[in-house]
Amino acid sequence: MSDLPDEFKCTITNWDYIYDLCREVSDDVKAAEFEPDVVVALARGGWFAGRVICDFLGLDDLTSLKMEHYVGTAQKSGEPTVRYPMPEGSVEGKDVLVMDDIADTGGSIRRAHEYVTDRDPGEVRTATLQLLGTSEFEPDFVGERLDEWAWIVYPWNFIEDMIDLTTGVMEKGADGPYTAEEIRGLLREYHRVERIEMEIAQPGRLSEVLEEMARRGIVETVGEGEVAWRLHEDAPSGP
Ligand code: AMP
Repeated sequence: MSDLPDEFKCTITNWDYIYDLCREVSDDVKAAEFEPDVVVALARGGWFAGRVICDFLGLDDLTSLKMEHYVGTAQKSGEPTVRYPMPEGSVEGKDVLVMDDIADTGGSIRRAHEYVTDRDPGEVRTATLQLLGTSEFEPDFVGERLDEWAWIVYPWNFIEDMIDLTTGVMEKGADGPYTAEEIRGLLREYHRVERIEMEIAQPGRLSEVLEEMARRGIVETVGEGEVAWRLHEDAPSGP
């Protein structure tokens, strides 16, 4: 998330919505009469989807591949690399479904497809829950195509993403401390996150995010009466 511009749209999702996308992908796999022997779930975004798709398809062979986008410190590498190789025998001779959450540049799923294909598998197909128009790779199975680019906040890393986003907007807005309502205003201004959208997807969780930020020493509370939050002076820096 660290190399994104100051303002960009974020969409907050929840478990039910994502579970339905897993079902869409599974239905497409079944309709295509593709019967994989193993699912390779890309770490970390493809794990939930990979597990659920095994359930829908009746598979007990699930393995993982960790892709990495960065080399050295915060230096963007054009080509995603494989961080942890797969154990011997994971895919050799097997029909494989490679699974990730979203294809944005498409680099991760493309590289994973290449990596698996190099290991003497049977047939290899790819799937993502969501596909952005920016992707240069077209997965075989897609839960949902998104017309407009957005950063998708998934339920499995809700806290991680919301801490990044909240830290970012508090750094941009210079006149803190902020009440929770003012933080909602900043999230709307910079990321088009509407209160109603957030409360429907993840009800009552902004205070949980702020409390966790305080526990991690990123923010501190100030004042008496209505609580307001400001970034801690020695906080680990945001995105
Ligand atoms: P890619 O650019 O297709 O290689 O994306 C690599 C990974 O980064 C994806 O599997 C996601 O985990 C994450 N990612 C990239 N773009 C987004 C986005 N717009 N929203 C949420 N996660 C993203």
